[in-house]
Amino acid sequence: EGDGNDDYQTGFRRSVVWVCPNGEEQQYLEDDAHFLATLQQAFGTRAGTFTAAGRRGAYPLTRVLAKSQVDGRCVIMGNAAHTLHPVAGQGFNLCMRDAHVLAQMMSAQVLKGDDLGDSQLLKRYEKARQTDQKRVIRFCDAVVHGFTHPNPVIKLARNVALVAFDKLPNIKPLVATYAMGLKS
Ligand SMILES: Cc1cc2nc3c(=O)[nH]c(=O)nc-3n(C[C@H](O)[C@H](O)[C@H](O)COP(=O)(O)OP(=O)(O)OC[C@H]3O[C@@H](n4cnc5c(N)ncnc54)[C@H](O)[C@@H]3O)c2cc1C
Repeated sequence: EGDGNDDYQTGFRRSVVWVCPNGEEQQYLEDDAHFLATLQQAFGTRAGTFTAAGRRGAYPLTRVLAKSQVDGRCVIMGNAAHTLHPVAGQGFNLCMRDAHVLAQMMSAQVLKGDDLGDSQLLKRYEKARQTDQKRVIRFCDAVVHGFTHPNPVIKLARNVALVAFDKLPNIKPLVATYAMGLKS
């Protein structure tokens, strides 16, 4: 239902990804009223008043990094190679950059008439992707720790950073450029 918020439009369905400590999810799954009330409190009324909840599911978020992404003529990519916390929405972007680099290397290999599955080529791909992958993994870890750290000083620094992010001109395009992997 509307609450006078100018941006609000009635009849909207919304989906939400909610990250919470282990064990807390059970009460959100089982109890619609509790879920709606807690969500409303956490989210505020920017999207109006939440009146009904749909089907919900929960699963643990765990960082999974393959020890090796290449073995012989085989490459693993995407979540199989690096499953990241979705906090910064970086996982799929990273997969696309991996795929782009591999495609470029393979195209060059085809033009030379060489073997596409050559293990040296695949090893070079793995090495070429290390810097970007490590950068994104470090960034996601830092954001997760920044948002969950109980230390009040770190909480204060995080809140100041969020306000600065919202208010300072030019900072959002800069962060977006970094997040898209266009700047390291
Ligand atoms: C809540 C959330 C929000 C996200 N938001 C963003 C975002 O905003 N931006 C972004 O860049 N990234 C985001 N990501 C990350 C993104 O979803 C992943 O990086 C991307 O889905 C990885 O694609 P994938 O194909 O490698 O793996 P998946 O999407 O995990 O696909 C693997 C598929 O294989 C299937 N499968 C698994 N095991 C087997 C088996 N044994 N046999 C047959 N099939 C199997 C699975 O069912 C699944 O369909 C988000 C992730 C989550 C969880």
